[in-house]
Amino acid sequence: MEKVVIIGSGCAGWTAALYTARADLKPLVLSGRQPGGLLTTTSIVENLPGFPEGVDGYELMTRMQKQAERFGARASFGTVEAADFSQRPFSLNVDGETVQAETVIIATGASHRHLGVPGEDLLETKGVTYCATCDGALPVFRNQPLVVVGGGDSACEEATYLTRFGSVVHLVHRRDSLRASKIMAERVLAHPKIKPVWNSAVTEVLDPAQDKVTGVKLKDFKTGAETILNCAGVFIAIGHGPNTGIFKDQIKMDENGFILHSLGSTMTNVPGVFVAGDCSDHIYRQAITSAGAGCAAGIDAERFLAAQNH
Ligand code: NAP
Repeated sequence: MEKVVIIGSGCAGWTAALYTARADLKPLVLSGRQPGGLLTTTSIVENLPGFPEGVDGYELMTRMQKQAERFGARASFGTVEAADFSQRPFSLNVDGETVQAETVIIATGASHRHLGVPGEDLLETKGVTYCATCDGALPVFRNQPLVVVGGGDSACEEATYLTRFGSVVHLVHRRDSLRASKIMAERVLAHPKIKPVWNSAVTEVLDPAQDKVTGVKLKDFKTGAETILNCAGVFIAIGHGPNTGIFKDQIKMDENGFILHSLGSTMTNVPGVFVAGDCSDHIYRQAITSAGAGCAAGIDAERFLAAQNH
């Protein structure tokens, strides 16, 4: 029987682990399919206070884990396949094994959104990717034209990173201005290697018949014109959806699957189940806000257990 099980090992999960470990609750952190979470796929995190030169996303997550483990948190590489929150102790099916927990902190984060156009899935890992930091340096992309889709901070970050490798980076966005923060947008628009393609959508990724990316079909929303843009890689950065499918029907969520919690607390509609980070936040979605929510969830879980006379 675990006192605290934390599902997810991103910023929110490891911060919740740090706080509950320091409260001597020996939390078990189930790392899921992407240990360290989405930040491990970023290069430099420039907006975390305390790191004036920025910090590598992977290094940051490794340090968070070490810090929580120093106080007694335990990591397990398990993935939760099902959860039963209908009674306490709660039951989690972790890779076929049952784990019982008095409290659960859900910190499952979010995953990259897909465009859902023909060719995208067939060519994933064959030129279609969702992570420039992971794949940008591959030989197949070197000195080739590349396409980034999206207009937010992620798309800007990916485009800037890819200028190191591609001959040109076409940034395809469905509007005529970027949604990204001002500093990121300015950096992108001033870069000689980045060419914005405004008011346009990728409608197909070519060419599955050749088993590799050779280009994208574009539709211009203003003129209705359809064109083909040749490229060797398509980097899709159109935001994220919450990883909450396994909790459907167990816990209250909004219509987009973000888990709801009560005002002024991280507790969900199930007493003893708490939530933190991108799986419940569609507004801020920053490393520091996730860490802050993880801290709050850790404190809430500790107080909940104390109130139950543990
Ligand atoms: P985002 O801010 O939600 O932006 C998603 C972008 O993709 C938007 O421009 C959106 O277009 C576009 N889009 C969405 N669905 C699309 C579709 N089906 N087809 C074409 N385009 C589509 O997501 P994000 O850029 O991943 O950023 C997520 C959060 O992480 C933000 O809070 C961001 O500030 C943060 N972040 C921060 C940094 C940093 O500071 N270093 C880096 C990365 C991310 P519309 O504009 O038309 O909606």
